[in-house]
Amino acid sequence: MDDIQNSPNYYIPNLRNRFAEKTHGGERRIVIRVVQRQYKSILPIAALGIIIAIVAVTGCLTKSQESHLPDTTPANNATAGSPYTGVFGSTPSADTSSYGRLPVITSFRPITLLVAPVGGDHITITQILPPGADPHDYEPTPNDAVALKNGKVFFYDGPFLEPWAANLAASTNPDIQLVTFADAIPGPAYDLMKSQYADFPNLTQDPHLWLSPQLAEYYTTYVARQLSKADPKNATDYQNNAAAFEKQLKQLDSDYTAGFLNCTTRTFLSSHAFLDYTAAAYNLTPISIAGMSPDAQPSMKQMSAIIGEAKAHNVRGILAEPEEAEDLSKSVSAELNLPVYPFRTMEVLPAGPLTPDDTDYVAIMENNLKEMKKAMVCQ
Ligand SMILES: [Zn+2]
Repeated sequence: MDDIQNSPNYYIPNLRNRFAEKTHGGERRIVIRVVQRQYKSILPIAALGIIIAIVAVTGCLTKSQESHLPDTTPANNATAGSPYTGVFGSTPSADTSSYGRLPVITSFRPITLLVAPVGGDHITITQILPPGADPHDYEPTPNDAVALKNGKVFFYDGPFLEPWAANLAASTNPDIQLVTFADAIPGPAYDLMKSQYADFPNLTQDPHLWLSPQLAEYYTTYVARQLSKADPKNATDYQNNAAAFEKQLKQLDSDYTAGFLNCTTRTFLSSHAFLDYTAAAYNLTPISIAGMSPDAQPSMKQMSAIIGEAKAHNVRGILAEPEEAEDLSKSVSAELNLPVYPFRTMEVLPAGPLTPDDTDYVAIMENNLKEMKKAMVCQ
């Protein structure tokens, strides 16, 4: 954990650039994509075996596991063991208010934020990734096995982002209901989007599904369905919650559409390739920067291609996660004399007190829209 917190750009070496030439609406353009490296999964999988063995030997699976209400009040979120981040730190005394609620496990922050509004007060959520941990190369701990042992439903992004998830869950709790967000989008809907949007990413390669307001709309009914399966007596409430949340997401989607109607440029730079779904849906072109940590400098050729493309497309700004912004975008931003705008992918939960906005997916996404508009100089 310390390593992670001390190296804000530690995941950059996990990225590599890929250049793809595309023809789009008659105009030829180059999209510089960053894709995640094949997960260096030997390490996590070996670690997984050890974890399962340790947990089995020490018998700590029988220990009761911390779980929290998906409460979004700032007071409750201001503590280290915030409602959405239960699995790290010491186990608190039994929380009587969680009695009778469905114990739900989530892998990381955006999943938590998208499940909580649908579950409402019928569920408790225990999130596996602690502050500072990044889902792109997270390695599970024995505590995670304990959490899964005590859960009824486990929501995670998909096998490409959390390659450890299914095995760990299945070996510690064969009865747990495994739910991936990647499966929320029905095949025909995916095919339609693929045909509508020239650069729509491949669902099995790009894990950043949660950053598209359009895709997020699919999650609401899906989450309600999955919660109802585990807890049929509250099915009506889950459906109603989902409908209310979906309304907010539809508004978010139309805010995004309206927000990009009148922009100086539709191309922007991003610190890593997290906005490909969003860009496809709103006809934008991301150019991703990566490999700019001291450990993994991009080649001179890649750098000059990024800079050349940015100039050719009149790029006016760089979007970067706060953790990445400082080092990653600095050299490119200096080279091009471009401002860097903070974009919150929600991937890495910040340490320290959380603000009310930290617990509200729609608020975070509305804020991201404002930064995107600045980066493309939209009216
Ligand atoms: Zn990411």
